[in-house]
Amino acid sequence: MSKQILILAGDGIGPEIVAAAEKVLTRVNEKFNLGLTWEQGLLGGAAIDAHGEPYPSVTSEQAKKADAILLGAVGGPKWDTIERSIRPERGLLKIRSELNLFANLRPAILYPQLADASSLKPEIVSGLDILIVRELTGGIYFGQPRGIRELENGEKQGYNTDVYSESEIKRIAKVAFELAGLRGGKVCSVDKANVLEVTELWKQTVTALKEEQYSDIQLSHMYVDNAAMQLVRAPKQFDVIVTGNLFGDILSDEAAMLTGSIGMLPSASLDENGKGMYEPCHGSAPDIAGQNKANPLATILSVAMMLRYTFREEAAAKAIEDAVGNVLDQGLRTADIMSEGMKAVGTSEMGDAVVSALV
Ligand code: NAD
Repeated sequence: MSKQILILAGDGIGPEIVAAAEKVLTRVNEKFNLGLTWEQGLLGGAAIDAHGEPYPSVTSEQAKKADAILLGAVGGPKWDTIERSIRPERGLLKIRSELNLFANLRPAILYPQLADASSLKPEIVSGLDILIVRELTGGIYFGQPRGIRELENGEKQGYNTDVYSESEIKRIAKVAFELAGLRGGKVCSVDKANVLEVTELWKQTVTALKEEQYSDIQLSHMYVDNAAMQLVRAPKQFDVIVTGNLFGDILSDEAAMLTGSIGMLPSASLDENGKGMYEPCHGSAPDIAGQNKANPLATILSVAMMLRYTFREEAAAKAIEDAVGNVLDQGLRTADIMSEGMKAVGTSEMGDAVVSALV
């Protein structure tokens, strides 16, 4: 297998957090003799500025060649008023869908050192380890028809379509069942089957797949409104949560906050063959961009997920995760996870500390 990575720094804090992660990648590549190579590309606002579109063909060619992609984040106020179809976030949707990255894995793990950073009581969140498996290339974010139309009475009406086929539901449920088999053995499928037909089919299909192939996995179902509540009431009841694109988007951000900071959470988006795009769960944080304030750990932990899921380099992945634990043990904190008695550091210092902890 070739070992080619495409790095897309993106916009806002993207270049800063990716620079810190690239230092870690360089060190781990040498240390574990991984033989990885990488090149840089443009996505989002940076690509609009250079090529007039958020996912230009040059980036698409690079992305198709690569085995894995490391992304910072895209978007920002500079591009918020341009025509919707070429906004930065559309570039992100396009690359995910072109590469068929249908399975979005978002772990929400609470590092014991950060138990204080959570807005929930430590006993509710300590030891938290949830994996949210979100369907990423279907559902209401892609469904047609969509748009804003004018009604006969002159009033405007916005509309979108939530749509899932059986095969789309099956392949994401399979990912969730397989991963649950490697963890706690429990899957909770989240839907709104009492109101939406599309999720009634979701529920039936997930249930049928479990009965056919995954008798060893414990499957439960939950409505999305209850899931949102249970995540803050008793989050440790969950092992793997599987859900569609829209519900997964919202629940994974909620789960992120249980851990104290969105700046700590990595994610992977995989195709059927293990090719993946790896990125932090957060956005481009324009409010702190260019100030060396952003937490780079989510991006650094995304590199660990890349080594684990695409390159199958478990020892190197674990070394990065351990190095992150080590810098937290040292008391180093970016502003988003700062607490009393800890040592404040910036983005680049945090990256350097992880590199040093890898030695
Ligand atoms: P955001 O995640 O960028 O920021 C939300 C809050 O979290 C902000 O206060 C920000 O400062 C903070 N934050 C985020 N990442 C942080 C980090 N690493 N360290 C410290 N603090 C951090 O979400 P938003 O404000 O809703 O969106 C900003 C822009 O990002 C928008 O243009 C949006 O479209 C885009 N966005 C991109 C992605 C992506 O690229 N995957 C995802 C979400 C939002």
